[in-house]
Amino acid sequence: MAREIACPSCGETDDLRGNQLPEGIRITCGACGTEWTRDDVPERCTTCSGTDLVKRPLALTQYSRGTQLSIVGIGEIILCARCDAEMVDWSNGRAVPASYRSAALERKDEGPQHAKGPVRITP
Ligand SMILES: [Zn+2]
Ligand SMILES: [Zn+2]
Repeated sequence: MAREIACPSCGETDDLRGNQLPEGIRITCGACGTEWTRDDVPERCTTCSGTDLVKRPLALTQYSRGTQLSIVGIGEIILCARCDAEMVDWSNGRAVPASYRSAALERKDEGPQHAKGPVRITP
């Protein structure tokens, strides 16, 4: 199963070698020599720093022939039981859409999509 992995240093996607280790998969980039571990599970939610994280299947999609979006595989995404509560609920038994941004992995306290209604400034 193909997963989109890119070297964090040079962006190489082809010349990568992986070694299975107890803590994850150690990837070595053949182009620049950078090593990193894939499947690193964050210990805390990026948004609320909570430790109640949930692993869910992630639908990997791509546009085939222009406009048709098709599921090409299933990956994994980490969700926060608190910040991603709605999606944790929704994805019970189905895969999380690839377009979903996990609050556990990306801070959600800023950005237009988070602005629901007027911002309240509490004293
Ligand atoms: Zn590289
Ligand atoms: Zn959270």
